[in-house]
Amino acid sequence: MKFSNLTLTTPYLALPPLFYEKVMPTPLRNPFLIALSQSAAEVLGVDESLAEDEHLLKIVNGEKLLRGSSPFAMCYAGHQFGHFVPRLGDGRTINLGKVNGENLQLKGSGVTLYSRRGDGRAVLRSSIREFLMSEAMHGLGIRTSRALALIGSESDVAREQWEKGAIVLRLSPTWVRFGTFEYFNATGEHAMLQALADYVIEESFPHLVEEESPYLKMYAEIVKNTATTIAQWQSVGFNHGVLNTDNMSIDGRTIDYGPFAFLDDYEKNYVCNHTDRDGRYSFSNQPGIGHWNLAMLARALSPIVKYEAAVEILENLYGSTFENVYSELMYAKMGLEGEDSNDRELFQWMLGALESATIDYTLFFRKLSTYSNNREEILKYASFQAPLAEWLEAYELRLKKEELPQSKRHEKMLQVNPKYILKNHILQEAIEKAEHQDFGMVKDLLRVAESPFAEHQELEYLCKLAPASSKNIKLSCSS
Ligand code: AMP
Ligand code: MG
Repeated sequence: MKFSNLTLTTPYLALPPLFYEKVMPTPLRNPFLIALSQSAAEVLGVDESLAEDEHLLKIVNGEKLLRGSSPFAMCYAGHQFGHFVPRLGDGRTINLGKVNGENLQLKGSGVTLYSRRGDGRAVLRSSIREFLMSEAMHGLGIRTSRALALIGSESDVAREQWEKGAIVLRLSPTWVRFGTFEYFNATGEHAMLQALADYVIEESFPHLVEEESPYLKMYAEIVKNTATTIAQWQSVGFNHGVLNTDNMSIDGRTIDYGPFAFLDDYEKNYVCNHTDRDGRYSFSNQPGIGHWNLAMLARALSPIVKYEAAVEILENLYGSTFENVYSELMYAKMGLEGEDSNDRELFQWMLGALESATIDYTLFFRKLSTYSNNREEILKYASFQAPLAEWLEAYELRLKKEELPQSKRHEKMLQVNPKYILKNHILQEAIEKAEHQDFGMVKDLLRVAESPFAEHQELEYLCKLAPASSKNIKLSCSS
């Protein structure tokens, strides 16, 4: 199947018109393809080369519609930095329709009813980040929206300075957000709330269709999925940056990549978002924010579920799911399979030691994955060695209790400790080149994003450490 031969359906348009605005994309001027993800296309059932699809560019630019497509923008509300905004919606994203369980969207394709004062555009810089990070998150095994294509253009877009407009074609099994429920709770249209819940169950939790109390069960699934995704972010050192309820997917996957960052040196209170002055969305706050956002969702669902029952689910399920997933992932990163009564302490000690030692989080685990008691091999990357040296001594003792032979342990650790993550300083380099029409580095980054655990000898330059001046920097939200 060729991409441009896909036929879309638009089940969301069966909901009442309050849910969306039908709107056509506004194409960019002189568009050109920059990068394509063939593996994202496979999810749609496409098995022919995207690069050879002569209609692809026009489709991504919104000049040509796929069969069955009927473009629309979705309406939602959301808590932004803790404050409720009664109407947000897709201000610069237009949905094309659905195929193979995936909903296609163009991000940056012009104004909609929900644009407020925005221009409906996305600049090249943020589009490169979203395109690559979607595929990198998937490569890390974490549920996320995907990105199939990135195009640039000669359209001027006004930000702090003039930039060029770009569009990402992205896909997700759902684009419903916590904020979509909040919208209909706030307007008091409880029949709409129920219609939305029925839609979400059919789209994302079909196994609940015939169940009793399906809405409460749906909520429980959302709680579990959200806790799981956030535990995975914590394990890889990912800071989302804007965890407003409108950026929370109803099926718990990662969506809406803005000023995200991976930790360089391990710093638990790192805040990647420059505008987040109070550190509400800091790395260490993410699990708590997931809980807060789910509490807002419980409130939004309260006209159709028993509020106390939802809160009970939240309290019983969220923390325990998070802890289970997070500890399993972290012990795997440490290469610990057996159980020892001091493991928790060893783990907490490790995080403290990493922070005091000042060492790159990703590199530390990658080096630990081939560690055979040569402490210098790891310590040479730390600014302060003593705290980490002591910990390594304890770690060596602990490893003696493991049954698995070292080579097998290393093999497994290399599969869970990525070599390549999208470091901001590397992304920045790729963006600067792309702004001068050199897209080679974007393409290289896509390759490592797709298989971050593999060695790519010729692409080693993509895992170089951040220079001191750009370690754990803050990013602007403007995009
Ligand atoms: P974000 O923080 O990117 O998730 O965006 C929050 C809200 O602002 C969403 O409703 C977006 O659709 C909207 N928005 C962001 N940037 C623009 C823009 N350039 N034009 C129109 N709407 C925008
Ligand atoms: Mg958003």
